[in-house]
Amino acid sequence: MSAPTAGQLVDRRARAVDALTALGAEGLLVTTLVNVRYLTGFTGSNGALLLAADGTGTFLTDGRYRDQAADEVPGLDHHITRDLMGDAAGRMSGLWACETHTLSVDVYAQLGAAGVSTVPAARIVEGLREVKDEGEIDALRRACRLSVEALNGLLAGPLLGRTETDVARDLEWRMLELGAEGIAFETILASGPNSAIPHHSPTDRVLQTGDLVKADFGARVDGYHADCTRTVVLGTADDWQREVHAAVQASQAAGVSALREDAPVAASDEAARQVLADAGWLEQFTTGLGHGVGLQIHEDPFISHRHAGRLARRTTLTMEPGIYVPGRGGVRIEDTLLVTSGDPEVLTTMTTDLLEIA
Ligand code: ZN
Ligand code: ZN
Repeated sequence: MSAPTAGQLVDRRARAVDALTALGAEGLLVTTLVNVRYLTGFTGSNGALLLAADGTGTFLTDGRYRDQAADEVPGLDHHITRDLMGDAAGRMSGLWACETHTLSVDVYAQLGAAGVSTVPAARIVEGLREVKDEGEIDALRRACRLSVEALNGLLAGPLLGRTETDVARDLEWRMLELGAEGIAFETILASGPNSAIPHHSPTDRVLQTGDLVKADFGARVDGYHADCTRTVVLGTADDWQREVHAAVQASQAAGVSALREDAPVAASDEAARQVLADAGWLEQFTTGLGHGVGLQIHEDPFISHRHAGRLARRTTLTMEPGIYVPGRGGVRIEDTLLVTSGDPEVLTTMTTDLLEIA
């Protein structure tokens, strides 16, 4: 278990305060739990942060977390209360930036009743979280490495004759055995025609010779999520399976090669889609192309032609094109990648070639 250092937390809060300046607010009320964690180090389930524009702050949690907060949250005043938002409101006056994209209507009303003016915080903390520090990258590396190791172990077989559910649980158990603190999300294990369902939940369908088998899975390490998808064939692939897999592989490679510092986010979307369009499969690509990954499995930036921004170095995100043919089958290939000034670093290091599993 490694946690952010006190210095890293001070640096993150300083950057949040910098971003706050443009809003002219007295401070930032952080209520989104994952953002509270990012700025304070707190890993419990109930907490909030009042971060004043001068950089000082108060961390609020309830009595269950008194000791844990003392261990995890350096450099801030601590306030233990059963009425987190009531106490927070009592400590605020004037104009405060709030995380209105997640704040409940009740809390919003509570702040108003206490005479606090609010301004949307414009996803300040989500923006900071896009760029990872070394400790975060290390956790992501470890999560990705052990995810791939677990999949390689699983693919050593046997797979034939087992149910999707059995195979999914096996993969999850392997990640835990290798040191994951948990799974990053509910494992998708889809076989045969089910592989055409992008977010299929494992069933008792038995894996058979000739099936495409798609596994979308990941481990969580120190709060950081890995995200990886591979699609294999049981037995010998037929021509259709090879064609679809080759198109997805080429699309993924094109999207990945467009991920670099200062490149428009939309450029990778266009590059990956163009390959699918040229191969005649774009209409069968019905999901998002990729997303940031870190303390959340899906976080900013989301790869899309609508994204107007550019990529920053040390951003981690996925690239995951797919082709889904209802009733027949589907292929997705997904890696977690680290943006650099050159080619991105693949954190889920494993071949993207079509594997035929005996
Ligand atoms: Zn995934
Ligand atoms: Zn993903």
